[in-house]
Order: sequence, then C-alpha cells, then structure tokens
Amino acid sequence: MSLQNLISGKELSKIILTKIKDQVTKMVGEKPQLVIVQVGNNPASNKYIQHKLRACEYTGIIGTHLVFPETISQVDLEKQIITLNQEEQVHGIIVQLPLPKQIDEQRINEIISVTKDADGFNPATLGKVVLNTSTIFPATPAGIVKLLEWKNIELAGTNVVIIGRSNIVGKPLANMLINKSATVTVCNTKTKNLQEIAAKANILVSAAGSAKLITPKFVNENMTIIDVGANFVDGKYCGDVDFESVQPLVKYITPVPGGVGPMTIACLLENTLTSFKNQQIATKN
Ligand code: NAD
Repeated sequence: MSLQNLISGKELSKIILTKIKDQVTKMVGEKPQLVIVQVGNNPASNKYIQHKLRACEYTGIIGTHLVFPETISQVDLEKQIITLNQEEQVHGIIVQLPLPKQIDEQRINEIISVTKDADGFNPATLGKVVLNTSTIFPATPAGIVKLLEWKNIELAGTNVVIIGRSNIVGKPLANMLINKSATVTVCNTKTKNLQEIAAKANILVSAAGSAKLITPKFVNENMTIIDVGANFVDGKYCGDVDFESVQPLVKYITPVPGGVGPMTIACLLENTLTSFKNQQIATKN
C-alpha cells in the first residue's frame, strides 16, 4: 500500500518544536514556564501529560506538573489557579481534561487568566478567535490549520466539512477556517445525511470520537482528510477513519497516531511562547 498521501503531524510538529527551541535557547534570563494542572490519575491524561512534558524538555520551556487529588473541591481548585495566575514566572496554564464530576469545567476555563491561556479555552480568547484578533488559538484547531497550510492546501473558497461541534475543536476550527474564507459546514449527531454531506467536501475534518465512522462512502478522490479522533479499540489507539479502506481513496490524509496529536502539543507550546512574549511586552510598557 502506498502511503505517499500522508500528512505527517509528527514531521511538522518537530519543525515547530525546533523553532521554539531555537528561540528559547537564545533567551537570556527568564525562560517561559508552562504549568500543567492535573486532577486525579486518569491513565490517558497521564500519557498526554508525559508527551507535553517531554516536548517542554526538548524546547527548553519549563514544564511544571501539578497534581491535585480526585476529590479536590471547585473552590480549592479555583484558588490554586488564581495563585498560578498571579505568579510572574508562570506564562502558560493548562488544566488537563477530563475533570471529575464535582468540577465545573467551563468555570475553570473562565478563571485561567487570558494572558496565560495556553489551551485557548477561555471565553475571551475564543471570542477573539471568532473576531480574528487573537494571538492565541486553541491548540488542536491551530495544529489542523498549520497542517493544511504546510501542504499548500487551498482554504479560500474550499468546501470544508467538520464532524463535531465541540468548544475545543469544531467551533473554533470552523471560525478559524471561515476567517480564511473557506465555506464551512459543521455537523453533529443530529445531522441528516452525514455521509452525503461529507462526500462532497474538499476537506473533511472528523472530530467525532467514533472509531471507523469514516468509511469509503464518506470520501472522494480529491479530498483531504484530517482525523482528529483519539479512540481506543481493543487497546489499540486509532482515529475516526477506517484508515485501511479510506487511505488509498483520498488525496491527503493524516494518520493516527502521528497526525493531529503531536500538532496539538506543538501548538500548545507555541501558545506558551506567545504568552511569554506578550507578557514581556506588557511588563515593559
Ligand atoms: P466531544 O465529545 O466534545 O464532541 C464530539 C462531537 O462530535 C459532538 O459535537 C457530536 O455531536 C459529534 N459527533 C459524535 N459522533 C458523531 C456522529 N456519529 N455523527 C456526527 N457527529 C458526531 O469531543 P471533542 O472533545 O471535540 O473530541 C473529539 C475527538 O477528538 C475525541 O476522540 C477526542 O479524544 C479527540 N481529540 C483529539 C485531540 C488530539 O490532539 N489528537 C484533541 C482534542 C480532541
């Protein structure tokens, strides 16, 4: 099977991380610091955090991992975040999802200072993303746009179908692509004729979290597929696309693993570096 049509997030993320490393290495004095807040001990979260810390180590960004008990209250978690907001040496803060039931995730996103919002989930950040005035972008959509631009895939006037309307993937991505003059359709579980809508797309982004959702009937030969899904089937990590049957039929496709996942981490670190620079400019003024 020829794999000429793969878009390698592993390759592009390495390029981005190396550029970050080059900048951080040249810094005299203070270095950017990303704090990763974890609540509990979710095995998938442990793995994602390990990858994020490894990327920090590679770039020279200081990665700090804070773990709080599964039983922490909303008030106590908010207090911890407020403290981090006030610490001058902290430039980026993320709270690893999922959070336990007693924690209001939306409220946590609101509490993280907009100047340290490395994940880009604060409503003020998202508002600026919609208005196209933000310097910080939610990491997964940012990584997707970078992958498309890296491959010189036309966005203006292109029909993009996004499956999934979450606040962290589908909604921000749709707005970022609209701002690049794409024609965007956003689908959800209630969408009628999903297969028919998807099959007409030039770019299909699947962020449903449903293994083998995308079969040959969803695709066409000129299509680029971005597979955001992160699913575990029989202990094996896979995306939303039935890769074996679909990959030979399309123009470009991202693999899982090695596609969107590493790009999310690279963009998270890029956000941390941007926040660091923004904070330095703010201090000087
Ligand atoms: P979510 O559960 O919040 O949202 C899923 C969305 O998909 C919903 O809007 C739902 O309506 C839609 N959907 C689900 N099944 C569908 C179907 N059969 N037909 C049409 N629409 C359907 O998920 P999320 O947080 O956006 O994440 C989506 C997937 O992407 C998950 O697998 C998640 O693990 C993965 N993810 C990966 C990365 C990465 O860096 N690789 C980052 C974020 C999310």
